[in-house]
Amino acid sequence: MDFLSLPVQNAYYIGEKYAKLLSKLDIFTIKDLIYYYPVKYADSRDIKRILDVEISNNNIIQGTVSSIKNIYTRSRKVITKANVYDESGMAEIIWFGQEYIPSAIKEGNNVIFSGKVYLERGKIVFKSPQFEVLKENIDPIHFSRITPIYSQTKGISSKWLRAKIKNILDKIVIEDYIPTEIRDKYNLLEINEALQKLHFPKEFSDIESAKRRLGFEEILYIQVLFHIRNEERKKRSSYRIEVDKIRINEFIKDLNFSLTKSQVRSIREIYNDIKKGIPMNRLLEGDVGSGKTIVAAVATYATYLNHLQTAIMVPTSILANQHYNTLKKLFDKFRIPIQLITANTSKVNRNAQIIVGTHALLYKNDIFNNLGLVIIDEQHRFGIKQREDIVSKGIYPHILSMTATPIPRTLALGIYGDLDISTLDEMPKNRISTKTYIVPNSKRNDAYEFIKTRVEKGEQAYIIYPVIKESENSELKAAEKEYELLKNEIFPSLRVEIIHGKVKNKDKILEDFANKKIDILISTSVIEVGIDVKDATVMVIENPERFGLSQLHQLRGRIGRSDKQSYCLLFTPNTDNERITYFCKHNNGLELAEYDLKMRGPGEIFGVNQSGRPDLKMASLLDPEIIKLARMAAPDIIENLSKYPKLQEKVVEAQEKVLTIN
Ligand code: ADP
Ligand code: MG
Repeated sequence: MDFLSLPVQNAYYIGEKYAKLLSKLDIFTIKDLIYYYPVKYADSRDIKRILDVEISNNNIIQGTVSSIKNIYTRSRKVITKANVYDESGMAEIIWFGQEYIPSAIKEGNNVIFSGKVYLERGKIVFKSPQFEVLKENIDPIHFSRITPIYSQTKGISSKWLRAKIKNILDKIVIEDYIPTEIRDKYNLLEINEALQKLHFPKEFSDIESAKRRLGFEEILYIQVLFHIRNEERKKRSSYRIEVDKIRINEFIKDLNFSLTKSQVRSIREIYNDIKKGIPMNRLLEGDVGSGKTIVAAVATYATYLNHLQTAIMVPTSILANQHYNTLKKLFDKFRIPIQLITANTSKVNRNAQIIVGTHALLYKNDIFNNLGLVIIDEQHRFGIKQREDIVSKGIYPHILSMTATPIPRTLALGIYGDLDISTLDEMPKNRISTKTYIVPNSKRNDAYEFIKTRVEKGEQAYIIYPVIKESENSELKAAEKEYELLKNEIFPSLRVEIIHGKVKNKDKILEDFANKKIDILISTSVIEVGIDVKDATVMVIENPERFGLSQLHQLRGRIGRSDKQSYCLLFTPNTDNERITYFCKHNNGLELAEYDLKMRGPGEIFGVNQSGRPDLKMASLLDPEIIKLARMAAPDIIENLSKYPKLQEKVVEAQEKVLTIN
């Protein structure tokens, strides 16, 4: 095991106690510590002569301490007083309640002080300044430089982190996995130099070049991996699917709407891929309600016309049922045998040409005899592993993945570097954007009245509860309790039903809701993904602050799916929550994603941060220049990969990590 992967308490002067505190900052190994990026920097290069300090401002001085002592007041409070001088004059230093200071600063020490300066009784006085005691022949760590400021936690100060990181960086030499040729070619710093410049820059421009180098490495391995996969894919063969445009256009003409421009464009991009003999690997990205299903249906039909099977994999049985019903309606007139496969399926029709299912699909491989196309809906819900398992069923089918998680273009390149991307960037024309309001407690009853009026018009409503609640009782009970209240007291004359993860006949309930046998559906976030009921026009979300922005967006995407005006009502006591207010004003998934990205960072959003692996902080994914650079370098590196065994190891490691991104 190399030094960097050792637990952090193995570093110099860091023991168990501090290791425990550091874990709160997601720092577990020595590597985590030296890759702990400063959040900002303070310029402390300007050390003033004592005579030149600016009163009432912050100043930094350096001088010799001529006296220091603690004084105890009658109320047993401690005041520390020191005098310091430089060649220009004297200053007095005062601290309150910090008894330890005379053990840290001794008479005769050369010390830097930084803090606010007062003029009192004609004297220059620093009150409670920060300080650094200087050692002979050693440069100051905390002052007289561009000082890194770290995010701290109780018991771990920025100053402490700075000293420890400096200590480690000065003592070790890290092996650079990026070979010199590549560094030279792409103008990248050597790793030890990069880390020094990140933490202890001499110039502000050092920070930029350090981040460039570290960011490059952060995403390089994944990009190399993507590149290798892509090359491998291109060597494989798959069925050439001839597109029978005449029959497909008839099918499209038969729909009760006309396709949007971006649906047409995406379909054309898919045609282009599937007619080649190499497997398609395309991601169809489009906001909730943008109409991805019909694009998938067209691709399915084209495949069917070539006497090939299509498998459609979805994350929940609810969604599997819904897709099954949608496709059945679309294809009934062609008498295409469709099979639904969920955990409950016992009988399978071996002649099925379209197979819709949850990941239970993966275990029914005897049904696939000539699989031409695999469609993976809500692909972000699956791990890459699952996605690959289904792919290895047949002889390299074409793959169409679909997602409603909107991803800014550059980020998509970083994360989905091995996919071609089609985007549905417009909504079907008939849509009216949903109106979203925050409803304070005092308006709750008005909102219920409002729901009644909508139901009288033949519309339907969802009322959503967060999964985890503050009550000691489990969340389930809480949702159920609300259900009793709503059903018996607030909407006694309406048909109210409840659905959540533990309800047995979920599919039946949703079917009833879709068939308008239910007016109001009480639910948890189980209905978040993909459910499509046109007449549902009201959604109440209780405690919206408990949901992530993208989850809220997915939830709200369940309404506003027709030409009727829809309303999303957020029941919350926190009427001035910034995130929720932003959500009210924005209907566009991409805007919400970008906001979320800015506030929480990419690691959080893609669920990779909790691993505490600093090399997947992925800050670099926000930087298109770095992504471009890494993508450019990838083929270069692959050509010589056998020359760089260490780098090769890292690429293999990246493969394991990619599996956790979903
Ligand atoms: P998502 O992209 O969220 O999966 P769906 O495919 O479920 O969206 O489509 C949402 C609804 O919009 C469906 O009821 C679908 O029939 C309808 N739809 C799809 N395309 C169009 C269109 N071009 N014009 C009008 N309605 C459309
Ligand atoms: Mg969908």
